[in-house]
Order: sequence, then C-alpha cells, then structure tokens
Amino acid sequence: MSVRVRFAPSPTGYLHVGGLRTALYNFLFARHHGGVNVLRIEDTDQTRLVEGAAQNFIEVCRWAGIEFDESPEKGGPFGPYVQSERTEIYRGHAQKLLDSGAAYYAFDTAEELEAMRERMNKAGVAAKYDRSIMRNQFTLGEEETRKLIAEGCPKVIRLKMPLSGEIRFGDIVRGDIIVPARDVDDSVLLKSDGFPTYHLANVVDDHLMGITHVIRGEEWLPSTPKHVLLYQGFGWQPPEFAHLPLLLNPDKSKLSKRQGDVAVEDYRAKGFFNDALVNFLALLGWNPTADREIFSIDEMIAMFDLKKVNKAGAVFDVKKLEWMNATYLRSKSSDELGAILLPMLEERGITGISADYAGKVAVLLRERVTLLNEIPEFGDYMFAEPAEFDAAYRTKHRVADTSSLLSDFVLHLPQEWTLQNIRGYAHKYLEEKGLALKNIIHPLRHAITGKSVGAGLFETMELLGCEKCVQRIKAQIPD
Ligand code: GLU
Repeated sequence: MSVRVRFAPSPTGYLHVGGLRTALYNFLFARHHGGVNVLRIEDTDQTRLVEGAAQNFIEVCRWAGIEFDESPEKGGPFGPYVQSERTEIYRGHAQKLLDSGAAYYAFDTAEELEAMRERMNKAGVAAKYDRSIMRNQFTLGEEETRKLIAEGCPKVIRLKMPLSGEIRFGDIVRGDIIVPARDVDDSVLLKSDGFPTYHLANVVDDHLMGITHVIRGEEWLPSTPKHVLLYQGFGWQPPEFAHLPLLLNPDKSKLSKRQGDVAVEDYRAKGFFNDALVNFLALLGWNPTADREIFSIDEMIAMFDLKKVNKAGAVFDVKKLEWMNATYLRSKSSDELGAILLPMLEERGITGISADYAGKVAVLLRERVTLLNEIPEFGDYMFAEPAEFDAAYRTKHRVADTSSLLSDFVLHLPQEWTLQNIRGYAHKYLEEKGLALKNIIHPLRHAITGKSVGAGLFETMELLGCEKCVQRIKAQIPD
C-alpha cells in the first residue's frame, strides 16, 4: 500500500504553530514512505473564512520547506483541493447516507434547538440532539417529511448514531479507543444552505482522495467516532488515525495567544530561521534519539516514525526555540547568513551593502545574538557611522591621555590590513608605551563602535577596514 496523507487546514486566520507541526508530520511521514502529501483547504464554513488565509498557509508552508504533491487537475501545476469547489460531491454522498438509512432529515429551527439545549442543561445532562422528540424524519413520519421538503422548509441532514453499544477504532499514537455510542451526537452533515459540515466533507474527501493515514491534532479526536460511523455508513474502510499531542504553555495549559505568540508568521517576522523553527516543532511530541536535538529535514525524514510520537502534551518552550535558533545561527555559512540578512537590512533602509559583507558581519556578531535580525541594530556601526556613543562607557575608561594614546595609535597602522597585523601592531604599541591592553581597547571600541559590547575588537576593525577605523578614531580626538 502506498502512503497518502493530507494536511487539511481551515482558512480561518493565521497558521498556528500547532498547524505547522501537523503539516510537518504529514510531510515527514509521506517522504519517509515515498508517499504523497496532499493539501486540502477545508473552507465549508463560509462564515469563518478569512480572505487570503489559504494562500498565506501555502506560502508559510513553502517557507518552512513543506512540499505538497498533488493538484486537483491531474498533471496540472500545484494547487490545493478546495472543498467549497466540491459541494456537489458532498450533497451526492449525503443522499447516499439518506438512502441507506445512516442519516436522516431534521427541520428544527435555531430556537427549537436552543430550547432543547436549555432543557438538557437544566436537567444536568450533556446537551445532545434527541431525535426521539425533535422535529425530524422519525417523529414526523415519511409523508410529512416529504411534504415539508416539497414546501421548501429549511432542513438539515443528520448522522444517525446508534443509541447503544460502542464505537472502536485504533490510533497509532494512542492505541485502541473505545467510546460509548450514546455519548456521540447526531451531528449535522449537510446544513440548510446545502453546504456540508466538516465531518461529512472531511470523511468523503479522505476516502475519495485515497488517504491512508489521517494525522491531525488531538482536538479532532472527539470527532473521530463520528467519522468511523460515517465510514461504516458508506461501507468504506476507514484510514488509520494518528492524533498528535496538544501543544502546551509552560504552565501546562493549552498553548494560547495570551501567554505568547502562536502564529508561525510571528516567529518568522521576529527573524527565527525556518529550519530552526521546523526542527523545534518536530521535537514537540517526537524524539528520534535521546542523544541529540539538532536534525536536518533530511535526517528527520529518514528517522520519522509515527509510532514514536508521544501522547502527552508537549510544552512550547520559547527559550528552547531561542537556543535552537542560536545554534543554527552559529552553524550556518557566511554566504547563507548574508543572503538572509541582506533583505532584513534593506527593510530597515540600510542599502548599498553586499551580501558578502552582510554575511561576514553576521559571522562576526553571531555569538552575541540569538536572532539574525538583531544584527542591524546590535551591529549598526558595521553599516554606518555609530549613531550614538555610550557616554558612561567613555567616562569609565577615560584616562588623562586617552586622546594622545588614540592619536599616536593611528600613526603607524599596518599597511596590510589583516587581523594578525592589527593585533600584532596593537600589542607592540602597548609594549612600547608600557601600557595594558585595557588602556587602549576600551577607548578604541568606544571610538569605532560607540558601544561597550560587541565582537572581538580587532576582528571588528579588520572587517570595517582601515580607512573607516582611522576616520572614527580621529573623530574622537579633540583638536
Ligand atoms: N479542517 C480541520 C482543521 O482546520 C482539519 C482537521 C483534520 O485534519 O481532519 O484543522
């Protein structure tokens, strides 16, 4: 059997980090098995649609390196399956369920349903559609039902759940799951506007698209008994299920916006690397080996195993993400960093810089920051004259003859501007004057960068070039 999986987001807003983890696990699983990864936009709830959200999901997944394989038009360019373009298919399938007796018509108004819920709440029972007393095909009879349909009375189609017995299904992450049938609602399958609900469209599509494994978040677990019943109603073999553990805040509550960012876009905008975020998300619920935490996407594909996914919720620890990002920052090549840093600089109005130079600045400063996009500000003096000079730093390290020290220092700078020569020159200079390194290093750093913290001073000077260093040192020497 060849593996076919799908990522099936509803385009109701931004892509949640949990959503990206679901997309990632589907992708890793598909690639590991040489299977197919389908993207399906589940937009049947037209009231919750957000303009541009689907396109944004595709873009964010692409940024994260997640690829989808199939297009609705065979052989056409990639494009997702879109449920709102497939409503005829769902209507036809709802009819099949009516014909086989697995579903039925109901005519209750919103007020009637609300009154039913209130009665149940008052009686202290879980609110659930009671088909024995509401206005539906069973209580009204076939003739009245036909009459109401002919009159155009608003109607829905509901799933007929068994009133006793159990619904069983296997879950790769959680093992066997058994749910008493009486706990499951007669959910609406087709709404009065002719649009399917999530349950119907999801099951019909998973079947028609030949999905072999449904990999999704734990929040969909309560829907699965309904889906299993739908498969039975259609006479179809259900796919395998794998429900992924919840993502949690550090206090173990469900990951929420109130305690931090939850949109992938936010982390992207802050400057986290795509590969670091993907690596971090992959380990929320799955540990390939106990001895390391940094994995390339190819390594993750090679090692991915749904059976090793944990059921316990996984804490989304931003500190760990920052550590991981800093680790990636330290291991990337200068060329790679330059290519990512250049647009960040341009966004801030810093232009006329080459990617090569940007990459070298990134390498120079990367031990001092967590995110690459801290560099334009942290190392602003690498791209322009220092905007500000730290006065306290200057005062702290000022000695009576700082000015003459600096003016003497620039007199015989090495012709060949290499790190070794600059360092050698400085040491010789100090030796001759009988001074310690700190006597010159702080005034120099202040003059060249304006700041008290930065990378190695001689490395900084080498990269800035002799001319700029001399200019800046001279600018700090009063006439
Ligand atoms: N449309 C659902 C969502 O927004 C998909 C759930 C599933 O994968 O079945 O997450």
